[in-house]
Amino acid sequence: MRRALLLFSLVLIACQAVASLAPSPLVISQPSPTFSPSATPQPTLTPSPTVTPTPLAPEVFAVRLHPDGSLYVGDQVSIEVISPEGVDQEEKNVRVQVNGDSTIELGSSEFGGYGIGERMQATFSWVWDTADLDPGDYRIEFAIQPDGPAWMETVHILPAIEVPSPEPQASWETVVTDCCQVHFITGTESSRDLPIVLELVEQQAKDAVQRMGVDFDERIPVTILPRVLGHGGFAGNGVYVSYLDNNYAGNDLSQVLHHEMIHILDRRLGGEMRPSFLVEGLAVYLSDGHFKKEPLISRAAALLDLGWYLPLTQLVDSFYTSQHEIGYLQGGALVQFMVNRFGWEEFSKFYRDIQPHASGEQSKAIDQAVQTHFGLTLVQMEGRFITELNRQHINPDMYDDLFLSVKYYDAVRRYQQLLDPSAYFLTAWLPDGEQMRQRGIVADYLRRPSTPENLAIEELLVEVNKQLRAGNYTDAEKALIQVNERLTLQQDNILVGTSIPFLFQHIGVESK
Ligand SMILES: [Zn+2]
Repeated sequence: MRRALLLFSLVLIACQAVASLAPSPLVISQPSPTFSPSATPQPTLTPSPTVTPTPLAPEVFAVRLHPDGSLYVGDQVSIEVISPEGVDQEEKNVRVQVNGDSTIELGSSEFGGYGIGERMQATFSWVWDTADLDPGDYRIEFAIQPDGPAWMETVHILPAIEVPSPEPQASWETVVTDCCQVHFITGTESSRDLPIVLELVEQQAKDAVQRMGVDFDERIPVTILPRVLGHGGFAGNGVYVSYLDNNYAGNDLSQVLHHEMIHILDRRLGGEMRPSFLVEGLAVYLSDGHFKKEPLISRAAALLDLGWYLPLTQLVDSFYTSQHEIGYLQGGALVQFMVNRFGWEEFSKFYRDIQPHASGEQSKAIDQAVQTHFGLTLVQMEGRFITELNRQHINPDMYDDLFLSVKYYDAVRRYQQLLDPSAYFLTAWLPDGEQMRQRGIVADYLRRPSTPENLAIEELLVEVNKQLRAGNYTDAEKALIQVNERLTLQQDNILVGTSIPFLFQHIGVESK
């Protein structure tokens, strides 16, 4: 039985990531001062060979292969068999075999919840070793047991000599610094800029330890990812951060490193129950912002004015499926408000003393703890927080910045769901770095979709972020409109079936 044993066994904390698969619950009650619908004609795009239909068709199992893109002789191939939504797969498993000159049994796997989004799927990690195969077509047979269906797909394996740069020379290397073990892949941007990266890692670790006020002398494992995954940062059994030129998720390496390191230190300090809302709020507060340095309380006040503020009980109980930027900002602002009001020591005592509530609801657990420590209910605490927000003076630019930031990251996630699905944070493909190093595998993190559509949209997303950070909101808005127009066209192509599903780029599909 093969399960996703290679993936993180620890609960991943989705950082700088977001929203749910469901449409955002938010309604923009007040239009942005600059954002308006575009009347620009949509560009004409050719169908992408690497598009994954999203959402998945209700009655069809979807299959994804890793590494992303084409496969080459020598690849260690992983397979995800994704269940149709809402179908009970209890007691069912998937059996997979490959037919070439001979039959290769890849084994079977039960269905289980995958990733933060707990997508129902059977996962086969590095299950097919292609090192000794000849280039050419191979048929993969899938059988859902015990009652079917069964089907077959054909995969084309390219010669090893055609593997894209920086493979095949690329390999993992590790540098041990005072704070950290830094793992990176040779031939990538992090390898090129290694002294800068190492200095940032040291600085951020030192600052995170100081801000958290802890003694910490263990080295933190830091894996530098040469592609965007999620929003560029995850914390699990170590820190994972993206570092690459033209990072379409726009993350600032220092900011993400700091945020993830806070998570590592926070977890080490422990607590019986640390609600996700406060875990993320703490990391945002101690990093002075989410994606960038930002005045948390006045920015949260702008949320109120935009009609975007989420009631705390609702937000706490569905944190990772709420609108991401709003949830993180409210979390950071509330932690700052509580620290300002009660002091860091009292906040820490409260935070480390939250006990699970019999109902299982995190909001009730927080409510219990704020009553014990501060003599207030959560609703009363929220009332005082909102009073504080209403006192804030807000610079008019902040509305544009906030509005466009939220819409930018919504577009990033929309792009990932449509055209870079391995990167979408709720179900990101995140093999364990340690096991990759032991096995000498780099392709899962090196290869990513790179069709002309991918590159064009990523370039536009980079432009949105650049203009946004420069305060050029009109230009940011223009580029964002283009991104969404292109994504809408892709979505339409998927709906009418003119795009080719991700797996099937070199593949013929037949029923069995
Ligand atoms: Zn986080």
